[in-house]
Amino acid sequence: MIFELNSDQAMLADAARRLSEETLAPILSREPADAPLPKAAMLEIYGHLADFGITAARLPEEFGGSGLSMLDYGLIMEQLPPVVALSLLSHDGSTVRFNAGADPGVRETYLAAFREGRKIICTANSEPNAGSDSNTISTRLEIEGDRAFITGTKMWITNASICDCMIVSCSAGNDDHGRPVPQRVLVDLSQSRVGLHETALAGLKQGHLCEVTFDRTEVPVTHLIGSPGDAGKYMTVVWNANRPLIGLMALGIARRAYNIALAHVTDRRQFGAPLSARQLVQQDLSDMEAALTSARLTCLMALATLDTGARSNGLSAMAKRLATENANRVIHLAMQLCGGMGITEELGLAQLWADARVFQVPDGTQGILALIHGRDITGTAAWR
Ligand SMILES: Cc1cc2nc3c(=O)[nH]c(=O)nc-3n(C[C@H](O)[C@H](O)[C@H](O)COP(=O)(O)OP(=O)(O)OC[C@H]3O[C@@H](n4cnc5c(N)ncnc54)[C@H](O)[C@@H]3O)c2cc1C
Repeated sequence: MIFELNSDQAMLADAARRLSEETLAPILSREPADAPLPKAAMLEIYGHLADFGITAARLPEEFGGSGLSMLDYGLIMEQLPPVVALSLLSHDGSTVRFNAGADPGVRETYLAAFREGRKIICTANSEPNAGSDSNTISTRLEIEGDRAFITGTKMWITNASICDCMIVSCSAGNDDHGRPVPQRVLVDLSQSRVGLHETALAGLKQGHLCEVTFDRTEVPVTHLIGSPGDAGKYMTVVWNANRPLIGLMALGIARRAYNIALAHVTDRRQFGAPLSARQLVQQDLSDMEAALTSARLTCLMALATLDTGARSNGLSAMAKRLATENANRVIHLAMQLCGGMGITEELGLAQLWADARVFQVPDGTQGILALIHGRDITGTAAWR
């Protein structure tokens, strides 16, 4: 067991840090901080991500994927601006969901553009009445000859307002138990009409989260992907990697808060000495460092486990829950250590808090992640 990055990993992480600081951050800072980034800016960002080789990190190499290990992908992801990392996670995961089972002609038409970051793709699964219970979708798929029609509403869809294509989970009818049979369908927004309504969030304000409506949205039947019923399987495959990756994103934000607090308590003097010399302050710093380190190692362990091909459902769920919980706690302590300054806008801690908080919901809420982990521990699914 080696806890040091090897030289290749150190170079990769350093290159990602430079990409982030020298290329991506200037694009983000030239746009308003409190509004979704324009599509042109996102395409510029995707161009840089493609040059770096991470727009299709999880795509099998035989289809032109990067061949990156999930561990290395995690080391890169934790360096990226979180708003970019979350968008990329959706794009990259959706490329996997598209590729697995796409009609060869349709794959030929779209895959290179997704891989090269020229077109952005996302996944629309959640609905007003299907959130944690993601299988209870009611968006309807009707097939008439060589055309298919989609009717329904999707909620909280990352990338929807800047994407070119969506993988939409539709119900292709009910099984013998009356449950929807989920079917993946590719919707090309240049050919099919959908309604888009941006949802304002408390954090990650430059990101994109949409309600999407389908009113007999028409697609060719060749855009149906895989077989009826397999949509859930590909959601889970992608979620298992997304969860520790999201954990690392949240921890990256918390690390920034920790650094701000550390600088503050080193400079700030009260009762005749720097705050950092006080026992209780040092205990807070120790708690913060322990929370960051333990959660980061758990996320990296989950990614390394995925690389071995072993089952990681419980571990990935545990990693995301621990990381997002710890990130929240670290930022809370950072704000407290900064006293009045901690709750001003000047230090930016409140925004970091809101940004990190967002990550406690997508790809599994804290409660659902505990239940997934609990199922692995006990062998019993407790959510039904
Ligand atoms: C930033 C962001 C990005 C997102 N991106 C996407 C996307 O790209 N595509 C997409 O399809 N969706 C996306 N989502 C939606 C996300 O997957 C859902 O919000 C999430 O699954 C939770 O669903 P919900 O909001 O309906 O909450 P609910 O399911 O209503 O849950 C509310 C609360 O009840 C708890 N709860 C639910 N069931 C149980 C149970 N059985 N036992 C105990 N507690 C329970 C939950 O833990 C939670 O705390 C995104 C959401 C966010 C915030």
